Amino acid sequence: MNNLENIVKRLLIIVCMICAIGEGSLHAQNDIHIENLLSQINADSLLRTVTDLQNFGSRFALRDGDNQQVSEYLVQRLQKYGVMAELNSFHKSGDYWLTGAYDQTFYNVRGVLPAVNAIDDSLVLIGAHLDAISYDHETYMPQENAPGADDNASGVAVMIEIARICHENGLRFHRNVHFMAFDGEELGLFGSYYDAQKRYDEGDKIAVMLNNDMVSYQPDDNWRLMLHWYPNAQDIVSRAAEICAQYTNITPVVPPMSENANAACSDSYAYYQSGFRAVFAMEYTFSLSYHTDCDVADSNNYAYLADVARYNLAMLNEYAGLDDALGVETHKAESQMLVSPNPVSDRVMVWCPIPENTTATFTITDMTGRVLLQQKICGQTGSHYEEMDLSGFPPGIYLCQLRTNVWTNTMKIVKL
Ligand SMILES: [Zn+2]
Repeated sequence: MNNLENIVKRLLIIVCMICAIGEGSLHAQNDIHIENLLSQINADSLLRTVTDLQNFGSRFALRDGDNQQVSEYLVQRLQKYGVMAELNSFHKSGDYWLTGAYDQTFYNVRGVLPAVNAIDDSLVLIGAHLDAISYDHETYMPQENAPGADDNASGVAVMIEIARICHENGLRFHRNVHFMAFDGEELGLFGSYYDAQKRYDEGDKIAVMLNNDMVSYQPDDNWRLMLHWYPNAQDIVSRAAEICAQYTNITPVVPPMSENANAACSDSYAYYQSGFRAVFAMEYTFSLSYHTDCDVADSNNYAYLADVARYNLAMLNEYAGLDDALGVETHKAESQMLVSPNPVSDRVMVWCPIPENTTATFTITDMTGRVLLQQKICGQTGSHYEEMDLSGFPPGIYLCQLRTNVWTNTMKIVKL
């Protein structure tokens, strides 16, 4: 080795060290931020959602009356937290072993928290089933009440709590985050098969699907969480275990193949079957109240459930990337407006979070500034949808503007 080579090598080492220090400090900053967010996850707030869901009495999808009201409740909760949420219903008929023939509508909930500075067109999906089931395990007679507090109000509560934390901190991610609540899981993953197939047909790219099903029964101090895995996402389950260990008091358990059979028993399996990558979190100690009317809110461990929610938020940060700047400057995120589809041929949906109890003015102008449509909107729920028919507009570019007393946001709409 000659001297010049030696000097170049030394220089390279120094440069690498400087880079390493730089990167380390960036991560440290992000860690402080994420630790602060995780500390805001609140056991009482999780209990509230579980109790609300239990108070529906039954969420059995085939009872008299369906799960539409349950799904509407979840849409409202998500919308209040600035998630663009809506019902996504589908129809199905068949024969169910417990109750016989059925022919009815099921109600998934689909929500989107739009990305800022998107790194690519992949999305990260967090989901849980909203339906429940209960029957006498000796006589196989259906029971009237299906409180489903652990199975699976707990998983739904995780999702709602994450939406709350995002909203209260004005968080956005570098990938779209989709929130899904599935109907008809207990009947054979109906809602997730429907959604996964639809996403496959539409060419959605999913970086990871985070499924939570039965995540609140933890009767002793040895907190553990099963991370069921799929053959196409073994790297994800390894990372999930590291993240769970780093950010929570729960010991993650990645089961060997022989103990991973439950991977096929919940909604993430439907996504796996469509070729998507997923990980499925589930309590380690199986609840004895499973599928009975004893699965009530009082039996859940909410401190444990809060840690499961922390694991999920840390996973979103890992796979969707929290936008740090927006985490600090909340009003920027609140002024986000989304127009879909764009370009548009006839009906367009505009979504905008409006500060509560303020009035906003919504205007569409052409490029010369001529006002074509104007209306006042009252922000009561904190977010607002406006669906408009632009089929009468000539093709061209239009400006869609929302003005509140806090900010003004303008977007271009392309009319085909
Ligand atoms: Zn379940």
